[in-house]
Amino acid sequence: MTTFQELGLRAEVLLALEELGFTKPTPVQERAIPLLLTTENDVVVLAQTGTGKTAAFGLPLLEDIDPGQRHVQALVLAPTRELCVQIAGDLERFAAHLPGIRPVAVYGGANIREQVRAIQRGANVVVATPGRLLDLLGRNAVDLSGVRITVLDEADEMLNMGFQEDLSDILQSTPADKRTWLFSATMGGEVRHIAKRYMRATEEVQVGERNTAATAIQHRYAVVHARDRYTALKRFVDAEPDLFAIVFCRTKHETQELATALIKDGFAADAIHGDLSQAQRDHVMGRYRARSLQLLIATDVAARGIDVSDVTHVIHYDLPGEAESYTHRSGRTARAGRSGISLSIIGLREVNKVRQLERMLKTHFTYVPVPGGGDIGRAQVLAYMKRLKEVEVDREALGQILRTAREELAAFSQEELIERFMSVAFHRLLDQFRDLPDINVDMSRRDHTARVDRPSSRERFATGRQLFINLGSADGFDKGRMLGYVCGISGITGDMIGRMLIKDVYSFIDIEPDHFEQVFNAFKGANYKGRKIRVDEAQGAQGRGDRPRAPKRPAGKRPVGRAHGKYRR
Ligand code: AMP
Repeated sequence: MTTFQELGLRAEVLLALEELGFTKPTPVQERAIPLLLTTENDVVVLAQTGTGKTAAFGLPLLEDIDPGQRHVQALVLAPTRELCVQIAGDLERFAAHLPGIRPVAVYGGANIREQVRAIQRGANVVVATPGRLLDLLGRNAVDLSGVRITVLDEADEMLNMGFQEDLSDILQSTPADKRTWLFSATMGGEVRHIAKRYMRATEEVQVGERNTAATAIQHRYAVVHARDRYTALKRFVDAEPDLFAIVFCRTKHETQELATALIKDGFAADAIHGDLSQAQRDHVMGRYRARSLQLLIATDVAARGIDVSDVTHVIHYDLPGEAESYTHRSGRTARAGRSGISLSIIGLREVNKVRQLERMLKTHFTYVPVPGGGDIGRAQVLAYMKRLKEVEVDREALGQILRTAREELAAFSQEELIERFMSVAFHRLLDQFRDLPDINVDMSRRDHTARVDRPSSRERFATGRQLFINLGSADGFDKGRMLGYVCGISGITGDMIGRMLIKDVYSFIDIEPDHFEQVFNAFKGANYKGRKIRVDEAQGAQGRGDRPRAPKRPAGKRPVGRAHGKYRR
């Protein structure tokens, strides 16, 4: 058994760990601490919340701080206020016997002047949310020129929350020869992009084994304003045609109200709650088990003991007050060896609760945006295609109708038939989902309550030029993927790209003026999945901050996308 002594930590730190009751290192600590203490390379560590990752970076970080020097020597970036406070507190406890080490947490939503004073009193470790740190940099209230170590904690979560641009700005303000340690629960494309772009020779530590028992439940959350909760629920259901869910509400009244609204909107839903008689309850449960209902709306009490083996989603329309209730609710999915999703639809204020649940349940919650029109349309079309492929054709019953149809359609090629069929079958669907507004709360701005005038991307590229491209969310692009894609094709770097507006079948991208032609030429004549990419310079948006307009289309050319191009792959 490895001990903390064997990992190479100094006596003062060992004493603090003993006082904290840390008797032996967790797997991530055992792997990461010796590496971080010795290597000059940058390091990526894949570890979940609850595995002891704070000590895994915190302990080697403290070994590198010179307590005699009262300037910022280490920077830790984390996605939320709660996490910053927790990390700074942990660092203080680990440094209990190291006088002169002064960690300070800075985050949005709190008095910025007090944070400035705390930094000026001689902080040598700053733990920050990206937005607030940029505000402080904009005020010249923090000097990062002496930073030797930067830690990106929960990097995937920071990127999920839209902090990509802020992270790029911050990383550029730190010395090039610092060491960067990136901690993440997952290693998706955006995390890889950040690692590739901002980290030097990297070593990777992956801790296969989690501290908690592996679970087949994926925990997710979406953040919307209270008025959009119902819309968000409907969109998640529409975007997942095979969804078979239990939706939890806190009160009987809300349960019934929600079921009534959903039924009115054409969903196969019904409620169970304490006011129903046993016979009524059996009736609803019978319909649910038989899958005549897709959505069972329930209170915690009424749902106790429900055992339906193929529930795909548990949806928390209201987060429960207790972690125990959350666990009970979530346990209605992922039964009998299947996997399942536990999705919470929450308001901005409840993000704290999600963090608390993460800590208490020692699990990771992934942020997911509410699906947009493109996602829903695509999901519905794919579900329809699946039915089409699997249907058993009853030729006898169709009889004469089939012969007539064959004669009527004989002149069309297969391709034309598919196009016509799609236009007729999905005309209404596409109209319905085409321009759904984005109802996600912009998480990247949540700690900007005391914003100062730092330049926005648009201002930075004041004479900026804006690229129109006929690729968007319907093609699977979000801001991160688009950034990677544009950089990959054109060879420019991410800092040449400013604000992006990703719509369903097209996007607008601010490009630093000197590099506009390079990007424009790189895309000319290019194809994406067999479709011709069209780029143009957007008109009327330059430097004025108004919304971009698509370039004028040459007369007679059909727009690519929508009912035709959108789903052609
Ligand atoms: P973290 O993943 O850093 O949020 O840590 C999860 C929890 O485990 C925190 O409450 C830590 O205080 C605790 N913890 C971390 N490392 C150890 C250890 N080696 N021994 C006991 N508890 C630990």
